[in-house]
Amino acid sequence: MKKITILGSTGSIGLSALDVIEKNSQRFQVEALTAGRNIKLLKKQIEKFKPKAVAVSNKETALKLHDSLTSKNKVKVLYDEEGLKEVASFPSADTVISAIAGSAGLIPTLAAIEAGKNIALANKETMVMAGEIITRRAIKKRVKIIPVDSEHSAIFQCLEGHDRKNLRRIILTASGGPFLNFTRNELRKVTLTQTLRHPNWKMGKKVTIDSASMMNKGLEVIEAKWFFNMDINSIDVIVHPQSIVHSMIEFIDGALGAQMGIPDMKVPIAYALTYPERIINDLPALNLAETGSLEFRKPDMKKFPCLKLAYEAALCGGTAPVVLNAADEIAVSAFIENKIRFSDLPEIIEKILNCHNPVNNPSLDDILQTDLWAKRETGKIIERIKK
Ligand code: NDP
Repeated sequence: MKKITILGSTGSIGLSALDVIEKNSQRFQVEALTAGRNIKLLKKQIEKFKPKAVAVSNKETALKLHDSLTSKNKVKVLYDEEGLKEVASFPSADTVISAIAGSAGLIPTLAAIEAGKNIALANKETMVMAGEIITRRAIKKRVKIIPVDSEHSAIFQCLEGHDRKNLRRIILTASGGPFLNFTRNELRKVTLTQTLRHPNWKMGKKVTIDSASMMNKGLEVIEAKWFFNMDINSIDVIVHPQSIVHSMIEFIDGALGAQMGIPDMKVPIAYALTYPERIINDLPALNLAETGSLEFRKPDMKKFPCLKLAYEAALCGGTAPVVLNAADEIAVSAFIENKIRFSDLPEIIEKILNCHNPVNNPSLDDILQTDLWAKRETGKIIERIKK
C-alpha cells in the first residue's frame, strides 16, 4: 500500500489523482491533502478519503473548515506556508503529488523533498523557479521526481531503456490552444471565456490561459531542461493540434521516439505513482484509425511571443525564469480579473524581464526575493495600464 499526500487536492490534477487513487484502493491510500480556499470540496474529500492531516492557504479558511467538521472527522487542520510544509513532509507518506497551481507550490514541494518523499511533479513552477536546487536536493535526499506533466511524462517514457548518450533532442508537442489559427489582430479582442475553452485538455484556469498564450509551453521547455538535464538549444517545440503525440525524443541517428495516447491526465498521474509498473484503467484506448490525420507545424513566435520570452529567459538562466514565471502569474490573474487584455500578457512580461539583472546560481533566498520583486513590479505596471 503506497501512502500518498496530494498538494492541491481540490484542483484539476488533484481531482484526477484522487480518482486514480479511488479506483486503485488496493494499492494507494490518501495520507494528507492540501487545498487553497475550496473548503466545501476539501470537506467532502476529508469525509471520503479520511486523510490524517490537511492544510489550507490561510488561518481564516482553516477556522471555517475546522468549524464545519464534526468529531467523526479525525483530521489535523493546518494552514499557511508552515502548515503546507508540515503536510508536505507528513511522516507516514511515501509519495507526494505536487499539484498546487503557481509559485505557491515551490516551498511545500521542497519541504517534501527534504523530508525524503518521492515526488510526482505536476507543479512545473517548482522546476522553472528552482530547477537547479530541486534536482540537487533530490539527488542528495535520494528521492525520485517523476513528471506528471503529459509532455514530460512522455519524454520520461520514451527514454526508458535507452542510453542517454544516444539522445540528441527533445521535441515537446503543443496543442496551440484555442487561438492557434487566430490572426494577431484577432488576438487583441479575445475574451476570458474564449481563452478558457481549451480544445483538448480540461485544466485549471492559470494553465489553460498559459496554454492559449503558449507561455505554458515556454515553462515546459524550462521544466524539461531540469528534468532531463538538457541544453535549452536541444529542446524544440512543435505544434500538434490533436494532442495525441504527447512529446518525442530524437536519437543521434535521427530516429524519433514518440509517446501517444488519449489526452487524459489520469494516465501520466497513474504512471508517476506506479512507475516502473503500469496499471490497467477504464479509459478508452487510442484508436488511430478513428483519429485520422495527425498534423505538425512550427510554432509562430511572433503571434505567441510568450514562447520566445521563455526561451530567452531560459537561455539567460539564473533568476530570469523566476521573473518570467512571477510576471506571468500576476499578469494572468489581472487578465482573469478583467484588468488587462490577453494581448497585454507578453508585453507586460517582457517589460519586467527587461528591468531585471539576473542573479546566477541563485540561492533559495535569491529566488524568493526575485519572485516577490517581479510580482510587485508587475502589479505596478498593471495598475498603469488602461484597458
Ligand atoms: P487548479 O487551479 O485546478 O488547482 C490548483 C490547486 O492548488 C487547487 O487545489 C488550489 O486550491 C491550490 N492552490 C492554489 N493556490 C494555492 C495557494 N496559494 N496555497 C495553497 N494551495 C493553493 O490547477 P491545476 O490542477 O490545473 O494545475 C496544478 C499544477 O499542475 C500547475 O502547476 C499546472 O501547471 C500543472 N499541470 C496541470 C495540468 C492539468 O491538466 N490541469 C497538466 C500539467 C501540469 P483551491 O482550489 O482550494 O483554492
